[in-house]
Amino acid sequence: MALAIEFDLRVDGEASPEAFLDCYELDLMFESTRRSIGAGLRRKFSGAVCEEHGEAPRFTIHGLYDKSIEEMEISYHVDTCCQKFLLRVMQILNQRA
Ligand SMILES: [Zn+2]
Repeated sequence: MALAIEFDLRVDGEASPEAFLDCYELDLMFESTRRSIGAGLRRKFSGAVCEEHGEAPRFTIHGLYDKSIEEMEISYHVDTCCQKFLLRVMQILNQRA
């Protein structure tokens, strides 16, 4: 089973008049975020499946770009078939690339 990665990238806050990024640039930033996080996860988790259930982990990546402070907050949500595999996935996730 292939690795499932979903992205939920949003924009929040009011842009200041001299905002650093416009809509087009934000789209580009989101796109490159998807690409780099996706590639990183696929590299780390290639062939990583639960020994017991044969299932791959499912990731949801939440990204919130706050226009007012021009910062992006990223959080990872992981779903697995069982607790045991979740622990393994967290270990892999925390390893250095
Ligand atoms: Zn399992």
